[in-house]
Amino acid sequence: MNAVETGATTSGLLRDCGLPRLEAELLLCSVLGCERVWLLAHAEEAIDTSNARSARARFARRRAGEPVSYITGRREFYGLALRVTPEVLIPRPETERLVELALERLPLVAPARVLELGTGSGAIAIALASERPGLAIVATDVSEAALALARRNACEHGAEIDFVLSDWFDALAPGQVDLIVSNPPYVAVGDAHLERGDLRFEPRVALVGGEDGLACIREIAARAQNWLRPNGWLLMEHGYDQGDRCVELLGSLGYAEVADFHDLAGQPRACAGAWRG
Ligand code: GLN
Repeated sequence: MNAVETGATTSGLLRDCGLPRLEAELLLCSVLGCERVWLLAHAEEAIDTSNARSARARFARRRAGEPVSYITGRREFYGLALRVTPEVLIPRPETERLVELALERLPLVAPARVLELGTGSGAIAIALASERPGLAIVATDVSEAALALARRNACEHGAEIDFVLSDWFDALAPGQVDLIVSNPPYVAVGDAHLERGDLRFEPRVALVGGEDGLACIREIAARAQNWLRPNGWLLMEHGYDQGDRCVELLGSLGYAEVADFHDLAGQPRACAGAWRG
């Protein structure tokens, strides 16, 4: 029996799938278990029937809107290959900025303590642990499924992180950390973006932050003061139009050195404040 379907080649599958090249390549790689560079070097390679069928099925899911990362189960973040499932937000490139801002604020020598709130896939905490192996990191999430995934990702990257099931600070033991970092839900209820693109498939609990999107940001900013050591930092991601309100919020709560930062696309994306204690 000939398992090779006439005409199914790497380049043919990619050409006929009706998807942007990069998405098609990522999906085909996920079927073949190869790197993208392999596809280039094997453009005329015959693809057997079952792989061709799997690839076409994945292409069809993508054409129907499902995020590439949920189909492949993978996403790269800060140079790390992470697993993702529909139970967690897909890590975004703009969130890498939050990692950089955190690294800039963490003391290089002393063994610093970090708390990440709402870790999802574990992306931020694992990126920090990979960059600074000496950090003591606690990472929380309100979702058991997210924590299970984050633990698995951490394990695969040799990252030692203490994962805690907690609704923000609720289940945390009292203590003081050098830095609190979070990419909380910050999209407003009813925001039209929720009905577009990847967001349609992502967990609402990871996206929606109340009527104006700022409910979680407000709660974290107010409660973080009990967990920050003197001169510890709070760093939060926020929506493109929330920078001014976040700066005002942190200022009104008494944080010092309050500042807002842009992501690589030039959008206001993260706010920082130091707690003097
Ligand atoms: N950055 C996401 C988006 O608007 C939202 C993520 C979040 O709420 N933390 O696409």
